[in-house]
Amino acid sequence: MNPAPRTALIIGGGVTGLSTAYHLAKRGYGRVIVVEKEGLGAGSSRRAAGITTGLLWSETGVRARKISLQLFRELSRTLPGYHYHAEEGCLNLFTPEAWPARAALLPLYDRCGAAYAVLTAGEVQSRWPDLRVPDGFVGLHDPMGGYSEPPDYLCALAKAAVAAGVEIRVPAQVTGWIFDGTRLAGATTTTGPIHADVVVSAAYAWTGPLLQGLGLSFPVKAFVHQRYLSTPLTTPLRLPAVNADPWGGYVRPAAGGRILMGVETADRDEHRVTSADFRLEALAAPEGLRERAQAHLASLLPALAGVGWEQDEVGLICFSMDGEPVVGPVSAVPGLFVGTAFHSGGFSYNPAVGWLLAEWVHEGRPSLDLAAFSPDRFPAAASADYLATTVPQRLAVRRRH
Ligand SMILES: Cc1cc2nc3c(=O)[nH]c(=O)nc-3n(C[C@H](O)[C@H](O)[C@H](O)COP(=O)(O)OP(=O)(O)OC[C@H]3O[C@@H](n4cnc5c(N)ncnc54)[C@H](O)[C@@H]3O)c2cc1C
Repeated sequence: MNPAPRTALIIGGGVTGLSTAYHLAKRGYGRVIVVEKEGLGAGSSRRAAGITTGLLWSETGVRARKISLQLFRELSRTLPGYHYHAEEGCLNLFTPEAWPARAALLPLYDRCGAAYAVLTAGEVQSRWPDLRVPDGFVGLHDPMGGYSEPPDYLCALAKAAVAAGVEIRVPAQVTGWIFDGTRLAGATTTTGPIHADVVVSAAYAWTGPLLQGLGLSFPVKAFVHQRYLSTPLTTPLRLPAVNADPWGGYVRPAAGGRILMGVETADRDEHRVTSADFRLEALAAPEGLRERAQAHLASLLPALAGVGWEQDEVGLICFSMDGEPVVGPVSAVPGLFVGTAFHSGGFSYNPAVGWLLAEWVHEGRPSLDLAAFSPDRFPAAASADYLATTVPQRLAVRRRH
């Protein structure tokens, strides 16, 4: 008699959960079930700007993003309805004062084989005449970076996951836990119990209230973040995705000749998610923020002045105490894996994180050393102190996409 197939339960139908489920099913893991309490992408995933760069700050981050960039390209070829826009790459802008800290990372990019070009303000402007970059500013161009339209990606990934055999249950909310001795062996949900060999928590901003019942609390803070979509421009622009940190935001081209603009609210305090039933619709951007950001970013992209707007999205971005993601097995709860705290770059991380978690669950270890992302890395006392303080976004480790 054949043994019963193994079951993996994935909590959260955002890009992290769906990507993990997709890669597990493609590897032939057995039964893969995703439970989502609201709707696929109803968390931050559908709201994301979808900008991606491989030029991060740590070796693990750069190597993980290399996997993501390769997978975005592959998925763009294989998932009907999804296109990865890497035609103009991703441009990261720096003031003269901020540049030396980033320039110090160029040897890391060389060592990891991450492609880049350093551009003067004049070179940026001659390549993309719609941009106005002040003299002395520096452009770090990532030719492998770019952007996706998150709703297209979510839809294509969910369809591919189902085609690969993933069962998606929505709405279905995890409400409690099932143990077999000391090992986590599934969860109770609003649609009944699900027994599983492995449970993957991909609940992002809800990780705190979700895992509290297991006695876990990771030093992670959530911050409100917002982005806006313009009405179509009369003449579409040829632009890269631009991470414009000196302007406190970012811009990219969007479908139908539109512009997408994202804005950071550096002085806003963290948003504490204390209830499992919390919904992102409860959040709002500050009054007048869009108009102020539009005026400010128009000095970089004059075409922004005077554009109209047709969509606002407000969600949460989550930062761990050291600014790195939290990905991997939790040694205090055998059977549990976690993927969360992707700073402002969880969309960009999702292909790699799904791939690596699937390797870990299916083969017992990932092909990339993820010790720097380990859920076990935080000392208990420092975590408790961090969680007890209220942090404004400017004091969380700054990370852009
Ligand atoms: C405005 C904005 C712009 C952004 N722009 C970018 C960008 O340009 N590039 C980038 O890389 N990243 C960007 N991000 C960040 C990115 O959106 C997130 O990091 C990413 O979507 C996280 O994906 P996730 O699947 O881990 O989380 P989510 O998409 O939040 O998914 C978690 C899911 O878990 C579900 N859930 C929670 N609790 C339970 C439960 N008990 N039972 C069942 N289901 C549950 C939730 O309903 C939710 O759907 C942006 C974020 C925002 C808000």
